Amino acid sequence: MAFEDELTLSELRQVEILNRLLKPGEELRPERIRGIGVVYKIGELTIREERVSTLIKLGLFRIKGHVSFAICPVCGDLDLSLNLFCPNCNSQDLEKVDLVIHYECHYADDVSRFRTPKGLVCPVCDKPLKVVGVDYGRPGISYRCSTCMSVFQFPLFSLTCSNGHVLRLDELALHRSPVLVYEPSGSRQATAVSRVLSLIEALSSHGYRAEPFAVLRGQLSHLEHVVDALVHKGEKRCAVVLIDNSVASPDTVSRLLTLALDLQVPVVAALSTGFANNIAKFLRLEGNLEERIGSLFPRELVKVIVYSDEKELLAKLLNALDAI
Ligand SMILES: [Zn+2]
Ligand SMILES: [Zn+2]
Ligand SMILES: [Zn+2]
Repeated sequence: MAFEDELTLSELRQVEILNRLLKPGEELRPERIRGIGVVYKIGELTIREERVSTLIKLGLFRIKGHVSFAICPVCGDLDLSLNLFCPNCNSQDLEKVDLVIHYECHYADDVSRFRTPKGLVCPVCDKPLKVVGVDYGRPGISYRCSTCMSVFQFPLFSLTCSNGHVLRLDELALHRSPVLVYEPSGSRQATAVSRVLSLIEALSSHGYRAEPFAVLRGQLSHLEHVVDALVHKGEKRCAVVLIDNSVASPDTVSRLLTLALDLQVPVVAALSTGFANNIAKFLRLEGNLEERIGSLFPRELVKVIVYSDEKELLAKLLNALDAI
């Protein structure tokens, strides 16, 4: 993995965290947070939509659908507030009323103006309101304009974004954010990350403390290198690099050697059988793959192991660690 340039360290960490927080098949819905924008909440993590799109590109999620958020078409702002107006005089001085209409005199007002100890009584004509639908109506919640006193069910409205752009409903633009399903099996990177994590787990069950995706500074180059695992054995440390899908080339050999020289930490290079075969073909090596490839490196710097499955990888890695 240290030899693949597609993933940055922060992406590796994100993949690692996702792997810990999400179960395959879990759904993530976009949410709008005022002042921040569209985010996805994963456990206690809040990830912005922009960051999530890089994770989608890595193939960690399937897009299941979308949620549309209304935005300002001028500045793209998501934070819209609603303004209400009287349809008669355009005043914004409105009150909500639970309306009662006395059919006989047509007086309409909030129910509180009709309440008396004797029940509902019209405050204008003083007559009791007995039967709903016969004496009086209850059309429900309405608005009353305090400027012109007109009563209406639907006020006019506009929306204002936080940058002050005033918009009608038909002027709003929509921002569509994907609803995601965590499906890491489709991603080569995620598969590689979970392989490293399960290897770390297996090592720790054998008493080794190991860090996934450790960052080490080169003693010679002073550049940072990321190794798949850094295993601690007492005072000693050992870097583990898994190589299974890079294109085989002499470059791999020289880069491994450079890495080991630069880190001044012994490196265990674990090569998949397929990769080791490719290297051997390339370099015209014959005989025992592990020995032949291993002999390309100074033994104290790079130990080569070739594995065909995870079980063999762990067994050979434990062997190599024993010898350190
Ligand atoms: Zn705006
Ligand atoms: Zn009005
Ligand atoms: Zn009345």
